[in-house]
Amino acid sequence: MASRKVLIVGGGIGGLCSAIALRRAGIEVDLVEIQASWRVYGVGIIQQNNVVREMQRLGVLERYLDAAWPFDSVSIHTPDGKQLAKFPGQRLAGEKFPANVGISRLALHQVLCDTAKELGAQISTGKTVVSLTQDETSVQVTLSDGTCGEYDLLIGADGIYSKMRQFIYGDRYQPRFTGQGVWRYNFPRLPLVDHLMCFVDQDFNCGLVPLAENLMYLFVTSSEPGNPHIAHHQLAQQMQQRMPNREGLIGELRAQITHNDEVVYKPLEELFVDAPWYDNRVVLIGDAVHATTPHLGQGAGMAIEDALVLAEELQHGEQVTQALERFYLRRRDRCHRIWQDSLRVGESEIHPDPQFDRQAVIRDMIAFTAQPV
Ligand SMILES: Cc1cc2nc3c(=O)[nH]c(=O)nc-3n(C[C@H](O)[C@H](O)[C@H](O)COP(=O)(O)OP(=O)(O)OC[C@H]3O[C@@H](n4cnc5c(N)ncnc54)[C@H](O)[C@@H]3O)c2cc1C
Repeated sequence: MASRKVLIVGGGIGGLCSAIALRRAGIEVDLVEIQASWRVYGVGIIQQNNVVREMQRLGVLERYLDAAWPFDSVSIHTPDGKQLAKFPGQRLAGEKFPANVGISRLALHQVLCDTAKELGAQISTGKTVVSLTQDETSVQVTLSDGTCGEYDLLIGADGIYSKMRQFIYGDRYQPRFTGQGVWRYNFPRLPLVDHLMCFVDQDFNCGLVPLAENLMYLFVTSSEPGNPHIAHHQLAQQMQQRMPNREGLIGELRAQITHNDEVVYKPLEELFVDAPWYDNRVVLIGDAVHATTPHLGQGAGMAIEDALVLAEELQHGEQVTQALERFYLRRRDRCHRIWQDSLRVGESEIHPDPQFDRQAVIRDMIAFTAQPV
């Protein structure tokens, strides 16, 4: 491979997975993260069968599973608890490993960051790229601490508001508010929540995700016309208002949403870069090029797959530009479909459509993402 020294901008899930995959390929890696100290918010994330498979390929599966809650199936219920469907997961990493996991974002960050450092990635926090120039053979950067560097490749893994994307595309791609928000709240795990449980009807969507022996979280999606600002002192009450006040498990948990500090609210935004994800020696991965809603639980999965495919292609070819082209061609359609289907599910919540078959979309997505990357 012609590329020997890589700068990764952004230490989120995509950036850290890239650092791991590239170090395993023997490539020198510097990673800069703009936050002075890591601020990973304390809720969890669903990772499905394709992610478990990719964690194995990244060589972190055992320590990742040690930090996660394993489960196989996903069940769908009415808001008052009647089970409508149960989808078995596929154990893509092998029979002795689970199909899916729930994991706290903090625990996931710790596993990825520790592994990247152990493999020799040079990680600096409180630092970013303030300017860059590039040609067909290298990229020169000036960092926010005044130092300069020259790299064979720069990977922009700096999220939906990516500055690296701006270096390539200016303001051409901007995040769009989808009309919905997500509310999350941690609870002690209940024994029956040993797998992902979704509770849906025409006007309501929530889920319970097990994260650890003593931890699970509840998420609720809601339509938020006009993207209102929710004052901190109203968070718990507002989250409760987004949920039906009914008998049963969801109603019981609703009553326990009382601490404003524990509510994590996020307006949902999306973006897809429908143009090459690279220019000369700068390439973009993860939410920087394909940010979608969490309805299918695949955003981080796509960033992780990007990291692996990019490292693979950089190892195969001598020419970096050809490797970046192959990376883009392998990723573009797969990410587009996931991005689009996730948006469709969100749209069906904003504008309920009796013809829309949500269960079929979930079933198809499980089968689709199980296909090799
Ligand atoms: C509410 C919600 C729930 C979700 N749930 C799931 C789920 O269950 N399963 C799933 O797979 N996905 C989920 N996702 C999606 C997932 O969180 C994202 O797709 C994933 O985090 C993208 O990773 P990334 O590394 O590309 O970007 P990010 O996670 O955004 O990381 C970007 C990093 O770059 C840093 N950075 C930003 N700008 C700069 C800069 N200029 N210089 C240096 N560093 C910079 C940031 O501080 C950050 O550390 C969810 C998303 C949301 C909003």
